[in-house]
Amino acid sequence: MQEIEKDRETLAGANLVDYGAERESFTWTAARALLDGLPAGGLNIAYEAVDRHVAHGRGDVVALRFLGDEGPGRELTYAELADETNRFANVLTGLGVAPGALMFGLSGRRPELYIAMLGALKARCGVSPLFSAFGPEPVRQRMERGHGQVLITTAAAYRQKVAPIRDELPDLHHVLLIGEGADAIDAPGVQPLAPLMESASGEFVIAPTDPEDTAFVHFTSGTTGMPKGAVHVHEAVVAHHVTGRLVLDLHPGDVYWCTADPGWVTGTSYGLVAPLTCGVTCIVDEAEFDAVRWYRILEEQRVTVWYTAPTALRMLMKAGPAAHAGRDLSGVRHVCSVGEPLNPEVVTWGDEELGLAIHDTWWQTETGAIMVANYAALPIRPGSMGRPVPGIDVRLVRHDDAGERVLEEDGSPVLVEEAGEEGELAIRAPWPSMMRAYLGAPERYAACFAGSEAASGKPLWYLSGDLARIDADGYVWFVGRGDDVIKSAGHLIGPFEVESVLMEHPAVAEAGVIGVPDPMVGEQVKAFVELKTGFEPSDGLRRELVALARRRLGSAVAPRQIDFLPHLPLTQSGKIMRRVLKARELGLPEGDLSTLGSTP
Ligand code: ATP
Ligand code: MG
Repeated sequence: MQEIEKDRETLAGANLVDYGAERESFTWTAARALLDGLPAGGLNIAYEAVDRHVAHGRGDVVALRFLGDEGPGRELTYAELADETNRFANVLTGLGVAPGALMFGLSGRRPELYIAMLGALKARCGVSPLFSAFGPEPVRQRMERGHGQVLITTAAAYRQKVAPIRDELPDLHHVLLIGEGADAIDAPGVQPLAPLMESASGEFVIAPTDPEDTAFVHFTSGTTGMPKGAVHVHEAVVAHHVTGRLVLDLHPGDVYWCTADPGWVTGTSYGLVAPLTCGVTCIVDEAEFDAVRWYRILEEQRVTVWYTAPTALRMLMKAGPAAHAGRDLSGVRHVCSVGEPLNPEVVTWGDEELGLAIHDTWWQTETGAIMVANYAALPIRPGSMGRPVPGIDVRLVRHDDAGERVLEEDGSPVLVEEAGEEGELAIRAPWPSMMRAYLGAPERYAACFAGSEAASGKPLWYLSGDLARIDADGYVWFVGRGDDVIKSAGHLIGPFEVESVLMEHPAVAEAGVIGVPDPMVGEQVKAFVELKTGFEPSDGLRRELVALARRRLGSAVAPRQIDFLPHLPLTQSGKIMRRVLKARELGLPEGDLSTLGSTP
């Protein structure tokens, strides 16, 4: 089996060196003891992320370094962040916002947004950051469902996206404006944040916080349908901290860059909470993706640990070697990826062209934290998502030929026993960062679990909806989303496997694979391909791709048809929306796309 070589120094200093021993000795109680807890009792994410470091004499370390879009950015030490977040907590309290209220955020990656999120947690309010490029409809959808009472946003975003729907948000009492023109809007409850912050006290004592209090509401990406609002609690910080140490391998002194926007769960769990609990310096880039800029940031900011996504890595690949010519990336010690299947081609490219080993990780908005990962000191098997995080029990639930879960009479799922057999990835409940509800959808939430410890004495399993295989060494291999899996002539075909092979061709930038109905075999494999700059669609290229796929996958799995598209449909977080390809192919309406904001 091909494995990526790593340099010995990284291996020696890693936080997790002996996987088996770490799993064996791990307990969540011991993990909880790595954190302090509130002096007055309970557990609060903002205290663990910020104030704890100040209490331990680390207040001078830079916590957040914002890189301005054009001009200079801003740096905040842990001590300054403690002061600013205290002020924000006092602002909310001063406005009469009670603990338990939900604050939404709608702005770019600006310091005020990060301060407000942590400050709201101190005031024991929930926080729901929205992706800043959402239009009015996705904003309304989410704020209405969450009964948001407070919104932090910019004047421009308020005018364009909130003012038109304000009448439909009766619970929204306070809008706090940041950035340019914040004092220029005259509307009920709308005011600039800066003067309130200035007059607020920098002292705030966090009241005892129940670990089960709501901390964040994160909406899923909407790759397979209407986004769901997953409710997360303060207890989740235990999982964030542990995975920050064991998976991201964060050490004091690290400069860490998570490229995800806080509007997605990765951007808050791992762009804010996990790294701050580990006391490192986080880079936040306010600008949008730009290959040359990104390589410059990695070098100039001396980034040591980098958490990014396959879609971004594929864009860097597409930009070619000129984008990183002359850059020294040797300071980057550890690279991780999440969000979509990480094609082996991308892992090989990272290794050969950048000299970086890319570590895939798997988790979902619902799981709140990384569940399966490749670790800094352990070999990477390209194409595998790695092995379960210590403390997390991952198994596969058997599916029948029709793709339905196989359950016992008492409702508990039948687990796959054989290594290599496919099944639905399931996680034994509970764990600290497990979602506690879907906003306004209790039945949908209940349907995510099978079995019941109380009723049958058997474990309760969270069912992820993703299909996978686990090999004899415990490495987990992604097969596909349950909804995307293609059933052809009695085989189950994961689109990812086919897409990865197509991406091996030098002309291919992105590939999306779906099943189209076929009277003979049930479904036929069809691929949509986006070409790299400099390549043109042609019948010759189509034949070459089909031949490559047949050679590598066999004729039963290789696509029968290949269409070239200028761009594949992506969610705003950059994931391929196979359901849109399918809807277009079948001439069906594309569903609730407007609510995804994917057509900004
Ligand atoms: P929705 O649930 O609204 O359809 P979504 O599932 O894309 O959207 P997220 O919670 O952001 O929303 O994404 C989690 C999903 O992303 C996983 O269930 C999986 O399908 C995919 N994913 C995440 N990481 C990986 C990975 N390393 N390899 C393969 N797929 C991954
Ligand atoms: Mg999902």
